[in-house]
Parts: sequence; C-alpha cells; structure tokens
Amino acid sequence: MIERTLAVAAVLAACGGSPPAAPARSAYDPEPTVIAGAFPADRGPDGNSVILRAPRGLIVVDTGRHTEHQDKLLAFARQAGAPIAAIVNTHWHLDHTGGNAELRAVHPGAEIIATRAVEGALVGFFPKGRAQGEALIASGKATPQQIADIKLGRSAIDDTRNLLPTRPIAQSGAADIAGRRLELHVAPFAATEADLWIYDAETKTVIAGDLVVAEVPFFDSGCPEGWRAALGEIAATPFVQLIPGHGEPMTRDAFARWRAAFDALLDCAASPAEVATCVAGWRTAAAAFIAAGGEARIDEYTTYYVTDILRSPAAHERFCHPLRAE
Ligand SMILES: [Zn+2]
Repeated sequence: MIERTLAVAAVLAACGGSPPAAPARSAYDPEPTVIAGAFPADRGPDGNSVILRAPRGLIVVDTGRHTEHQDKLLAFARQAGAPIAAIVNTHWHLDHTGGNAELRAVHPGAEIIATRAVEGALVGFFPKGRAQGEALIASGKATPQQIADIKLGRSAIDDTRNLLPTRPIAQSGAADIAGRRLELHVAPFAATEADLWIYDAETKTVIAGDLVVAEVPFFDSGCPEGWRAALGEIAATPFVQLIPGHGEPMTRDAFARWRAAFDALLDCAASPAEVATCVAGWRTAAAAFIAAGGEARIDEYTTYYVTDILRSPAAHERFCHPLRAE
C-alpha cells in the first residue's frame, strides 16, 4: 500500500505534477461536543463538559457535580460505543471534578489529567468548605437541595483517588491524550492555584474551563492578576470558538467583549468606587452573557466577589500563593 502510494507520487512527480494536497484528515470527527452544565436557582452549578473523540476512545473535559450531568456523559459514551480513555480537569472545583468517580466506576481505565493544585485544596479550601457545610446543616437552615449538594461534595473530597491526577501537568506544552494531540496550557494563580486550559489546533477551539464563566467570573478561589494574564494568553491563540466553563460557546468577538467586562470589573474593584457601582458596571458590560431572570443572583455573586475576594487583602494572600492548611 505504502509502496503503491510512493509509486503514484513518483509518476506524478515525473510528469511534472504533484499529488493533490490532501488535507490532514482525522479518522474521527474532531469537532468537540459540549454537554452543557446546568445552573438551577436552588442548587450549585455543573460546569460544562466537553467531549473530544480520539483514536483510543473519548476525552472528557470536566465531569460536572450532579449525577444527572454524569448520566449524560455516560450515555454519550454508550451511544458512541467508545470507552472514556481520559478525563481532563480544568481545575479542582467540584462542579468540574465531582463526576470523576462516577465516570471511572464505568470506565476504570480513564486517566485523570490535571495540575496538582488539588493537593492544596485538599488541605486548605475543601476542609474549610466542609466545615461551613456541616455548620449550615447543623443550623437547620439548609434546604434539602443544599443538604444534598453538601453531601455530594463531602463524598467527592473524601475520594482523593478520583480527584488527584494520574497524569499531573506542571507545564504548558503539547500532550498526546488517547492518541490525540492537544495543547495544554497551565495558568498559575488564576481561577485556582493552577488552572489548565486547552487549545485544539485542529478545530481552532479553546476549552477555557472557569477562566471564562459567561455570567460572572467565579472568584471563589481566584487571583485577579494571574487570571487577567491567562485571558491575555487565551486571546493570543488563533481560536475561532471558545467553550467557557459555564455558558454558551463564544466567538472571538464575544470573548473580547467578555474580557473587556472582566477587566473593567477588576479595575473598578481596585478603585475607590462603591461596591454597588462595580456590580452595576458588570451587569451592564456583561448583559449579553447573563440569562434573563438571573440578574439578582448575579448581583449577589458579584457583590460577594468584590467585597470578600477582590477587595480583601486576606483573600489575595490566600489565593495568589499556594493554598495551604488553615
Ligand atoms: Zn465552574
């Protein structure tokens, strides 16, 4: 077969022509499939999951929090008749990693590709969140949905085998995942101590994780300077579509508008302006990304982030350095 191809090439070359330039074709459909994360009013969100087909199976980027989300991922794999060969976690937040265990229960061969930032969360952020959850349950004020989410979180953080990477990523570079080549980018001190975002040159797609959250950047463990720098690096890639951690896929133009709103929020938080001014500024600048009816909730989130994270020296100290036990 190879010899025959070479022979044809030789004949074409001898005739002064050249073989038609065959586009580099994958044996699989390279386009990503997005399984959208839900964000119901009464529960914590699920991050978006992105499924990529690869020669040795499926790559699932982020696994959601709730079983309803994971059921969709498992159903996709069943229909595709392919194993989940790899899980990539863009960051350790449980709305992106909570389903690792459910997926690996069915696909035990799936490796976990992530940065080691979760190690800091396991001694710092998670125990604190767990204590807050238990206090909320003990207070009797938790709704049934909150109690269910707290219990789900507790079982996820106890199951470290399904949170820690089997293939830790320390540096940006090209990686072979299940036979498919992807560019992995490490963003230090961004939404977490070390986020991972993906550039797929074949489809010119950025999978951004929570470096881009359409409705409002989730600053719960965020470091503003590193996050801003990461958005600059994303902008420098020649992507045509960007899949955010939450919300609809974005064009370059949409991302540029979102990034401008992000920068304005950080600038406002760093200025002497009233908190309400920064909150209103985000709502106006990011209006196109906020679901109708969700405005009041987004205002609540933004108020919290400006007050308790962006204007808190203690939060800056905590999240712009490696996470540690408190
Ligand atoms: Zn998220």
